[in-house]
Amino acid sequence: MFAVPPRPSNEAERLDFLYSCGILDTPREDRFDRITRLAAQFYGADVAFLGFMDDRYQWMKSIRGDGVAPWIERDRSICQLVIASGEPLVIGDLATDPRVAGHPVVPQLPFRFYAGVPLTTEEGAAVASLCILKREPEAAEAFDLAPLGDLGSIAMDELELWRRNQELERLAETDGLTGLANRRAFDAALDRAWRRRQRTGRPVSLLMLDLDHFKLLNDRRGHQAGDETLRRFASLLAEAARRPDDLAARYGGEEFALILPDTDEAGALQVARLVRETLASAALPHPGGINGLVTASIGVASAGSDSPDSAETLVTRADAALYRAKQTGRDRAVS
Ligand code: GH3
Ligand code: MG
Ligand code: MG
Repeated sequence: MFAVPPRPSNEAERLDFLYSCGILDTPREDRFDRITRLAAQFYGADVAFLGFMDDRYQWMKSIRGDGVAPWIERDRSICQLVIASGEPLVIGDLATDPRVAGHPVVPQLPFRFYAGVPLTTEEGAAVASLCILKREPEAAEAFDLAPLGDLGSIAMDELELWRRNQELERLAETDGLTGLANRRAFDAALDRAWRRRQRTGRPVSLLMLDLDHFKLLNDRRGHQAGDETLRRFASLLAEAARRPDDLAARYGGEEFALILPDTDEAGALQVARLVRETLASAALPHPGGINGLVTASIGVASAGSDSPDSAETLVTRADAALYRAKQTGRDRAVS
């Protein structure tokens, strides 16, 4: 019976790296397709594929040729052997090789020859494999592994570039002080929420939040205490963004925003109340604040399916509501 090899000793680091790439389940891309294309062509293989191995599945980023599924359970893959050992593997005849004897899938495959190389991080974690398959068996000893190794290294370089790009994109959309989405990410998310409203006919709501008498807090407790207060407020706002598509953002200075797709005005007011209650129970000190505590004013605007608004006028309306909240005494939500 085929024995599933043990997980490699660096399995945790391996998965950390893989998940940090954010590449699983992304669409096909030429930068990886050209590598499998080259591998298949160079070796005259029937199939070449690049598969990432997560905790439970091998997921194919690129497949050239027919006969390989877009994903397979890890314990049923051949490539698990490459991932487990971190070494290349050449099997001249899958039908007779003892290393895959009793394997649950191999007998059903229309392939006899397998060669695979790991894609390995600088720390030595094998996160994926680049493999070729042939319908006919072939002498393993005569197989020249070096070109496949080079293509695997190129694929790894592409993966590293991909990961750094993702990281840069994430940083470009994150506010450095609070870790919330920044203004740029807010604009993009509002645009998405707006298009979704047009598609689904479901309402969308927007909260604009501004801390009360914040300038006084800076003046009396110092700018660093001000910064810390912004961070604390941001983290409780992030908690109020409960649904996956809700977005909490730092709009600028001590102004924040919360985008609530699929939420009508009553729902938005309820979220605003929750934010104010959480802020009250956090009891952040503010000499010069209302009752000595940090409070916020909140403007709420909602647009249903029949609203004449645009995304921009929704912001204008939320701003106007925020202004009214300030005018009528602060520490309140106004729609
Ligand atoms: P109001 O209740 O009318 O909103 O009064 P306010 O003092 O909060 O309003 P104002 O907009 O006049 O002041 C905002 C202050 O927020 C002024 C600015 O120095 C401060 N601020 C903006 N960004 C930051 C930041 O990143 N850190 C700190 N500590 N303060 C900031
Ligand atoms: Mg303010
Ligand atoms: Mg302000």
